[in-house]
Amino acid sequence: MTDHSLTLSLSQWDTMRRHVTAEAPLEACGLLGGKEGEVKAVLPVKNAAGSRVRFQMEPKAQLRAFEQLESEGLEVVAIFHSHPKGPTVPSPTDIREAGYEVVHIIWSKVGRRWQARGFWIENGHAAEVPLNMQGV
Ligand SMILES: [Zn+2]
Repeated sequence: MTDHSLTLSLSQWDTMRRHVTAEAPLEACGLLGGKEGEVKAVLPVKNAAGSRVRFQMEPKAQLRAFEQLESEGLEVVAIFHSHPKGPTVPSPTDIREAGYEVVHIIWSKVGRRWQARGFWIENGHAAEVPLNMQGV
């Protein structure tokens, strides 16, 4: 079985959390660049859908983010987006529209706290993958 787990630093984690917090109650999204399961860059991308229940990365911003990662020799290792009203897992739409073979990180709000879970989506099925904190 392939290991799709990711390792993130605390500041990368905080960058994502700040972005999803700032955009709430709208969904927020972005890309993580890295290598061999280690995250090296967090790039928030504008949600062109401007919606509380779905996201679509603004195409030009998404392209710029892809180009930036490529220029740094990184691959897209994950797409993150938020579910301000839940659920904590990918929605049927997320599973249907998962076009890239990357980890999908879902930020959801549980009570007053945000939490993040990672999933590998393949063949219409989402399997949870570990998100590890660097140095922990
Ligand atoms: Zn979603």
